[in-house]
Amino acid sequence: QIDRAADALSRLVRDIPDFPEPGVVFKDITPLLADPTGFADVVAGLASPGRDRDGQVVVDKVIGMEARGFILAAPVALALGVGFVPVRKAGKLPHATYDVAYELEYGEAVLELHQDALAPGDRVLLVDDVLATGGTARATADLVARCGATTTGFAVLMELGFLDGRAALGDVPLTALLTV
Ligand code: AMP
Repeated sequence: QIDRAADALSRLVRDIPDFPEPGVVFKDITPLLADPTGFADVVAGLASPGRDRDGQVVVDKVIGMEARGFILAAPVALALGVGFVPVRKAGKLPHATYDVAYELEYGEAVLELHQDALAPGDRVLLVDDVLATGGTARATADLVARCGATTTGFAVLMELGFLDGRAALGDVPLTALLTV
């Protein structure tokens, strides 16, 4: 299953050099999303850390980070039969939020989570398209902790190995369908 997902990623994610700025090679997943077999294979791969060896679901919620994380996390949540929760950029969520500021390469960004989106003790799987520096994942795990919930895994399509984002995740196990 992971092999099929890795194959879909190699074929259907394209590198866009110097987007959105010079020096960045952007991983464009839109061809993958447009391919129903490839999309299904990667959703199955991303959902796998949400189950134990016997196939029992071991998470209570799946979080997707704005924006491409939404597209992937929502079908993962449905596949596991649990709820989907969005983590959004500042000013987008309408109800009371927790917020966290984190460092970007240039400047700072803020992410928000609804305070009532997770219950204390909830086990949460985070889903995004790309793990780069790990800053987004680290900040999201901080928001989960503010609710008294626990991040039990982080699943991404692709890990950019040379940036060592894994180091930012601490003890949280990472599932990367492809490492480049
Ligand atoms: P980071 O916080 O550095 O791990 O960056 C991860 C976030 O930025 C994810 O939400 C990705 O969607 C996005 N991102 C970072 N680098 C890339 C890249 N090379 N291609 C596509 N998305 C990226």
